[in-house]
Amino acid sequence: MKKILRFSAKKQAELLKKGEVSSRELVEAYLERIEERRDINAFITISDEALSEAKRMDSVRAGGENVGPLSGLPVAIKDNIVTKGIRTTCASKMLEKFVPPFDATVVEKIKGSGGIVLGKTNMDEFAMGSSSEWSIFGAVKNPLDTTLTAGGSSGGSAAAVADFQAPFALGSDTGGSARLPASFCSIVGFKPTYGRVSRYGLVAFASSLDQIAPLARNVEDIAFLFNIIAGPDERDSTSIKEPFVPLENLGFDISKVKLGMVKEGLGEGVEKRVRDVVVRAIEMLPSAVDEVSVPEVNYSVPIYYVISTAEASSNLARYDGIRYSYRADGYSDLKDLYIKTRTEGFGEEVKRRIMIGTFVLSSGYYEAYFLRAQKARRLIRDRLDTLFERFDFLVMPTSPTVPFRLGEKLSDPLAMYMSDMLTIIANLGGYPAISLPASKKESIGLQIIAPRMEDDRLLRFAFEVEKALSAM
Ligand code: GLN
Repeated sequence: MKKILRFSAKKQAELLKKGEVSSRELVEAYLERIEERRDINAFITISDEALSEAKRMDSVRAGGENVGPLSGLPVAIKDNIVTKGIRTTCASKMLEKFVPPFDATVVEKIKGSGGIVLGKTNMDEFAMGSSSEWSIFGAVKNPLDTTLTAGGSSGGSAAAVADFQAPFALGSDTGGSARLPASFCSIVGFKPTYGRVSRYGLVAFASSLDQIAPLARNVEDIAFLFNIIAGPDERDSTSIKEPFVPLENLGFDISKVKLGMVKEGLGEGVEKRVRDVVVRAIEMLPSAVDEVSVPEVNYSVPIYYVISTAEASSNLARYDGIRYSYRADGYSDLKDLYIKTRTEGFGEEVKRRIMIGTFVLSSGYYEAYFLRAQKARRLIRDRLDTLFERFDFLVMPTSPTVPFRLGEKLSDPLAMYMSDMLTIIANLGGYPAISLPASKKESIGLQIIAPRMEDDRLLRFAFEVEKALSAM
């Protein structure tokens, strides 16, 4: 592997800017690395245009033009974010041949900042899963130990970044899909405040929870990418209208920060070694820490799996074989076409979600499930908002367990769903949250949650935490 691939994204961009490396050399080095590490299965599609784009960037730069902050740096993009002319499959047979005619807003912004789409990363089908095994392209392997899963659903993005196959990447986070794989691959994953990054061009899973999320090897690189992708977008009606002010300086004095350590995040269902590592990491910080209780954490998995499946069942109704998706052969009439297409086009987990979602929305069950889940969601939000009056941030582990083995939870959906027990509350309340490696020896993530719209404060704090932990 070329030495430059180990540098941070920020550093690589600086070298590009100074002309000490060309975009072509860099992209070639990444393509070589990806080829060498095909067994990790991080990518579904490598962009045919990456190299020609890199050459184009080099000549633009040689002409003395400013190509933008990314300066010809490649970025890996999760395969549920649409890319013009590059197929976007969501790891599903349903979209296996789908080549989008437009770019997602985030992709437009990356290109507009001098970035290059390197390729599309592997994931759980339609982002439904916690291990990146539910993919028609096969499971992603954890680059730190290939017998383990990389976490999900943005496992391909996390594995690519951890394995130096990309400087950084975009994932998505509906219930933890960027933070969990970041934790499993010992990198950083950040879910911004709901609406801070445009969802235009993100294939919808559960629209009230979905956020596009950067993954990188350090906090500074996360902020670098976040600065490029964040901000209002009139094509996404849920995007926050308030202008986005890019983050300039990361550090600050964290000795006056008050942390609430969530008791339920250290209780039942959480492995002892996870607890020990995270508590030790928190105690290392100069900030004040108090234990707080968020009893709703124990109900968050059922609440999330009612709301997210309900929204998914509605969002996935569009894959009917009529427009752009897969269409089954040999149907007798329209209804048969729908049935065959959807039976063949969706995988097992996606079908399970559609069935649960349809059930919880159906008349007679709507009040008992969907409506109650919405009310419970409100209680979580109220609880956390109240806590944020007294605390700057809430902290707990990202995942209740260390990375599990490939295949271990595939036949036990509930066990798989429990992996999300600590990440979901941030999505239900729309809060920004980040996962940072809490140990140099094991893949255990420390999760920090902040009040809505305090993305910049969260990143500045995380930067200090990262520094403190690396000195450990
Ligand atoms: N693991 C969760 C699920 O399966 C979260 C997925 C996500 O955030 N996209 O729904």
